[in-house]
Amino acid sequence: MTKYGKILADLHTHTIFSGHAFSTIEENIAAAHRAGLRYLAITDHYYCDGSALDKKNEITRLRYLERDINPTDCGVYVIGGGEFNLGQTPYNPEKIAQLMWKPIGLHSFFMDIPSVTLEQLYQMYVEAASDYSSFAHIERGFHKLEGRRFGVELCPEVKDTLEKLVVLAKDKGVLLEVNEASLLRKSGGVYERMKYWLGIARENGNQIYLGTDAHYSSKIGHFENTLELLGELDYPPELILNLDEDKIKAYCRNL
Ligand SMILES: [Zn+2]
Ligand SMILES: [Zn+2]
Repeated sequence: MTKYGKILADLHTHTIFSGHAFSTIEENIAAAHRAGLRYLAITDHYYCDGSALDKKNEITRLRYLERDINPTDCGVYVIGGGEFNLGQTPYNPEKIAQLMWKPIGLHSFFMDIPSVTLEQLYQMYVEAASDYSSFAHIERGFHKLEGRRFGVELCPEVKDTLEKLVVLAKDKGVLLEVNEASLLRKSGGVYERMKYWLGIARENGNQIYLGTDAHYSSKIGHFENTLELLGELDYPPELILNLDEDKIKAYCRNL
């Protein structure tokens, strides 16, 4: 228990289905149970690399993820989701529209990031805001953009873009993610950028959600760094999705 009370959900986690994570769904569910969670969002990466296996996987997870797992009554409700990449279009947008939980974020692995400008990044988020209701780890990747001209310390252009993203999210009803893995890493300026945007988000009244971004089961439900930072900033509990069962159900459709 923290000053925020009980954390009910981990809304960003990966399994071996991602191809570079190390635990099964079953192991993640057991870890969520141990951590006292009621909801576990499985947000394995979408790759959209054009391969036949990738296309098959997209359909498979949409059809089977929740349908097959939740009736086993494992004590933790699995929210079937996926983590999407800015700048990519899924194979079946109309099917993806039915997916319950689909954070989208900047993944430098999937695009030629040094050629991307801050304005282009912002525009990608603007486009994503019409189809996705949550932005993952908006603090990541800035130091790799525009030919790596931004250092890890906060510069006015980066601050301006973060501020615009916070305003965009509020205007479009998009949730912003506080990513525990970003805070664990504390490298590449992510901590400073997250602290900066969270400060603006608090003033702006943005709804946020918490995710560990666990790629191994033992990380699931552990939000120590996240809770420390939110406490430091005195972020209002009523703006944190993971604390409110009714809001979790409302945002993650079909629950
Ligand atoms: Zn990953
Ligand atoms: Zn990610």
